[in-house]
Amino acid sequence: MEILILASLIYFAFVLVRGTRGFAVVTGFLGLLITLTLLTKLLQLTVLSALLNELFPFLAVAVVILFQPELRRILGELGNLRTPNAIREQRENIEVIIQTVDRLAPVRIGALIAIEQTNHLVDCVESGVPVDCEATPEMFETIFFPNNAIHDGGVLVKDGRIIKAACIFPLTQRQDLHKSLGTRHRAALGLSEETDAVIVVISEETGAISYAYKGDLKRGVSLDELRSFLTLVFVRTQQPRGIWRWMRQLQPGRNGLTAVGPPK
Ligand code: ATP
Ligand code: MG
Repeated sequence: MEILILASLIYFAFVLVRGTRGFAVVTGFLGLLITLTLLTKLLQLTVLSALLNELFPFLAVAVVILFQPELRRILGELGNLRTPNAIREQRENIEVIIQTVDRLAPVRIGALIAIEQTNHLVDCVESGVPVDCEATPEMFETIFFPNNAIHDGGVLVKDGRIIKAACIFPLTQRQDLHKSLGTRHRAALGLSEETDAVIVVISEETGAISYAYKGDLKRGVSLDELRSFLTLVFVRTQQPRGIWRWMRQLQPGRNGLTAVGPPK
């Protein structure tokens, strides 16, 4: 029984860390530890063996520090299990964004909306005006209305609430972007390179709808395309179920997203 539990724990720990930044460090460290332990046992080096035993509590701390981003993500996922209620809320939040875009795009009101996932956006944006109100199409319309004091810059949205407005996002440093992409779109792309947020952009010049996600910008999408994309990210209907879906989500680059093509 113990062997079975230990084997499962080791297997799941391995699956979780595979492909992450700390993987190489951990494998190297474990290799060193096993070699040292074997050596101390074989050669009966008692002092070194005692020292190694003392080292284990520190190792646990080292693992927590090394895998801090991964652990935070795992705990976040656990606390954010997709219950039917949570899924309904996410769908409502998506509809608010869709209705907002549907109102603003035809009249060419420029907008920049970043929807937070696991990474804290407040850490990545400069300035901004605290808002903290329920996200509704009316509120977005009010904020982005031209000449309004906080219409410039981007809005941060988290769990169906508008957290901040008039935020300055980090601009992308990419040189290969089309000249038609101004700072609003570059800011969307920049934030998507640094966080896992989805950033929705409405062009003031053309009324075109775009979204940025994980370093890609998809331009000129329809409302239906935007809805499908947001559903894919926030509801994840196309993911495998239960523990397997959860395990897959933990692996980098396996979020099931293929919708974002190369930037035009
Ligand atoms: P549009 O198609 O709407 O014209 P664009 O990509 O061509 O967008 P600009 O014309 O340069 O971009 O848009 C300027 C607006 O973009 C600013 O008024 C401001 O609201 C917003 N913006 C510019 N830089 C940032 C930034 N770093 N963070 C957030 N918003 C920004
Ligand atoms: Mg412009």
